[in-house]
Amino acid sequence: RFSTAAALEDLIVPPVQIAYTQNLIDGKFVDAASGKTFPTYDPRTGDVIANVAEGDAEDIDRAVAAARKAFDEGPWPKMTPYERSRIMLRFADLVEKHSEELAALETWNNGKPHEQSAKSELPMFIRLFHYYAGWADKIHGLTVPADGLHHVQTLHEPIGVAGQIIPWNFPLIMFAWKVGPALACGNTIVLKTAEQTPLTALYVAKLFHEAGLPPGVLNVVSGYGPTAGAALASHMDVDKVAFTGSTDTGKIVLELAAKSNLKPVTLELGGKSPFIICEDADVDKAVELAHFALFFNQGQCCCAGSRTFVHERVYDEFIEKAKARALRRVVGDPFRKGVEQGPQIDTEQFEKVLRYIRAGIESNATLECGGDRLGTKGYFVQPTVFSNVMDDMLIAKDEIFGPVQSILKFKDIDEVIRRANNTRYGLAAGVFTKSVETASTLTRALRAGTVWVNCFDVFDAAIPFGGYKMSGIGREKGIYSLHNYLQVKAVVTPLKNPAW
Ligand code: NAD
Repeated sequence: RFSTAAALEDLIVPPVQIAYTQNLIDGKFVDAASGKTFPTYDPRTGDVIANVAEGDAEDIDRAVAAARKAFDEGPWPKMTPYERSRIMLRFADLVEKHSEELAALETWNNGKPHEQSAKSELPMFIRLFHYYAGWADKIHGLTVPADGLHHVQTLHEPIGVAGQIIPWNFPLIMFAWKVGPALACGNTIVLKTAEQTPLTALYVAKLFHEAGLPPGVLNVVSGYGPTAGAALASHMDVDKVAFTGSTDTGKIVLELAAKSNLKPVTLELGGKSPFIICEDADVDKAVELAHFALFFNQGQCCCAGSRTFVHERVYDEFIEKAKARALRRVVGDPFRKGVEQGPQIDTEQFEKVLRYIRAGIESNATLECGGDRLGTKGYFVQPTVFSNVMDDMLIAKDEIFGPVQSILKFKDIDEVIRRANNTRYGLAAGVFTKSVETASTLTRALRAGTVWVNCFDVFDAAIPFGGYKMSGIGREKGIYSLHNYLQVKAVVTPLKNPAW
């Protein structure tokens, strides 16, 4: 059975105060230009936990002006790469020192299990900044063997002011994926957080300034997408925009960038990732991994393994065990020890997930377990498993972004390749098999930016991440992420001595 609703009645008080709610512009916390604020919520209850400065176009203007000045006049891009690296390392140390408050704040504002915030996401955040600090002084140009009597070299220069728009599902990790590479390359930043989760970014941005980051280098504006987000994407003085979120909003951002100053855009968007369990799979292990692939982070992952393809020979056993595993999933107050699943982020997402569950039932998929909310307050959803899912059902096509597992049956490899690729998305895929040959065939045939073989959701600072097709443009993390934040300048100088 799911953990009892009683656990949801008795909430744990988060061990943290909310210290920062204003926008951080030019190194100072300031109110919104309009004086407006908006509420941010505790997803366990739907109660307001703080009112936050509501940035809009005017605040974006001020933040971009600060970032522009810090870029054009320095000192950030003019510092030695080693000095930039030292500040990033000092920042990582400060985050480590404040890990407890940050993990509590992340869970309070987002609803993800506290153990996940504390033991996985804070350490990963620190690791990402160590990784990018390491890159700061290793960004090299090339010497180019051009035809003719010229010495040719490339300079890799920062692109300028980066506008970054992040979502609510991993507030701190998304901050690190965006801010880390941009700062390592010497850019300045205006970051717009998701309206659902503004709190931890303000906290860490404050720590960055304590670590010695000069004013104006990193500006953080809270606010809504169509106002603050759109103002950033269409700003004439922003040199590059990076966005993570839904495919629909990604298209708007790309259009705004094109219609303003044609700034380059990187997009990390939605997914409907296949997880393929082959006939030779150890079913117990496959069930556990497929469960993790889908239910991790309340199912709110762009790369969630949300189409579980199971070979017909192991299908019945898999369904029975997947259902048993979902029923064992511990749902409850994310601050409670042992809780695997907290609430969805907000009313909108909660209702969207329940709508998709109803659509699944109406389309005659078999509801194996779950199917409803859990408790009477907050945004908790029962872990839900559907079997007999067909490719044309809405639950097999759309990104649900919730704890809803859709299981589909397949007969052979060619068929599953065709069906797995039959989607507008191409973010990730999972393969579960003992056969090296099957794994090699699938990894090459699947059109996705990441293929996990006998594992899932393995994230590492050095592993590139991004999508094929409508899952995005460009790659984050790893060496590839640096390309998003660099311009390449060719410098051509005549050679005096033709013989040399
Ligand atoms: P969204 O894409 O609308 O929001 C993501 C970010 O974009 C937020 O910071 C938001 O304020 C901003 N934004 C919204 N409209 C904008 C605009 N017109 N111009 C510029 N910025 C804008 O996502 P959402 O509404 O929070 O969630 C909707 C769906 O998106 C989810 O159900 C899920 O399917 C998907 N999603 C995907 C990811 C991901 O990691 N790829 C993250 C969050 C949500």
